[in-house]
Amino acid sequence: MKMEYADRINRIPPYLFAEIDREIEKKRGMGMDIINLSVGDPDLPTPGNIIEALNKAARNPENHRYPSYKGTVEFREAVAGWYNKRFNVSLNPENEVITLIGSKEGIAHTPLAFLNRDDVALVPDPSYPVYRISTLLADGKPVLMPLLEENGFIPNLDDIDAETRRKAKLMFLNYPNAPTAATADREFFREVVDFASDSDVIVCHDNPYSEMTFDSYKAMSFLEVKGARDVGIEFNSLSKTFNMTGWRIGMAVGNSEVIAGLGKVKENVDSGAFQAVQAAGVEALKGPMDSVEKNNKIIEERRDYMVESLNNGGWGIKKPSATFYLWFSIPEGYDSSIEFCAHLLNKTGVVLTPGVGFGKQGEGYVRCALTQPIDRLKEAVDRINKADLR
Ligand SMILES: *Cc1c(COP(=O)(O)O)cnc(C)c1O
Repeated sequence: MKMEYADRINRIPPYLFAEIDREIEKKRGMGMDIINLSVGDPDLPTPGNIIEALNKAARNPENHRYPSYKGTVEFREAVAGWYNKRFNVSLNPENEVITLIGSKEGIAHTPLAFLNRDDVALVPDPSYPVYRISTLLADGKPVLMPLLEENGFIPNLDDIDAETRRKAKLMFLNYPNAPTAATADREFFREVVDFASDSDVIVCHDNPYSEMTFDSYKAMSFLEVKGARDVGIEFNSLSKTFNMTGWRIGMAVGNSEVIAGLGKVKENVDSGAFQAVQAAGVEALKGPMDSVEKNNKIIEERRDYMVESLNNGGWGIKKPSATFYLWFSIPEGYDSSIEFCAHLLNKTGVVLTPGVGFGKQGEGYVRCALTQPIDRLKEAVDRINKADLR
């Protein structure tokens, strides 16, 4: 029988990261020692108190049943409590908080709730690929907002033309940002709220790196800004804050109608997050937070080492104040970020992510994830500086 994919699947470009993985496997098979700095997944373990909470909750038969669709009351209250304490944002756990099976799940389902065919979603370029792809899967039209270095990787909302404004129903934003590690200030979020209320655009701010910050920088919640709750929601996640990417637990908070729309899709697609994982999430959000600070110290040390020693080799990388990514230009003499990364892998066994994998505007850049212990980073820098790539 002839199997044919739907057009919406055919519209999805090949997953660059799967190709990188294949290349890595090939090199490993040839006996090469690979240092993979392409993965945005913490290498550090989940704190013990959270694991204990899962152990206990997993033994309770009440948790073995289907969870409630919008999440347990306890988890939604813990999220509201944490937002209040951390951001001074008060949320009604009843209708302004929903549990997600990781924030990726919520991001991917949101366009299904709000886009009709050819409705526009404004998507940053470069960005986390899910914003664009989930728009395509909902038969929507992604319109890219360039994030340029000269603007601090913040989109210029004045560049969005009237026709696009009229058709736009969603806008995705993400600060602290992946892959650029840029941060945004309150002034920008104020502009976003004005833009959104003038143009009837729902803002989806993705904030999984809100706690992964360094030096004296503290990230804010989009919902701290006056009027934000009238125009949008924020996604957050336990994945990066507590090294819990494998657990699949996150949340969306903010505008109750947007939360309800997302909930309507979820009710019909998934059956919620395992309640024992939500119980562990309660422990994460209400328990001691010292692990967060400890992790940040570790990443900060990696950042300092990596930036300083690469810069000794002439790279000119700026120290980011958030996220575990370095985002920097490829040297002159290479045609593309893919060509540079392939050359780097061949010569050194070090894997970075080609910037173009995050969008056209990512071309000319690479992303380095600080998700390896410092001795491996040292080895990586030694090889890079010896390889004379510049
Ligand atoms: C890691 C990440 C997510 C996904 O987090 P999960 O909660 O694990 O699904 C979402 N957005 C960005 C930008 C990320 O880097």
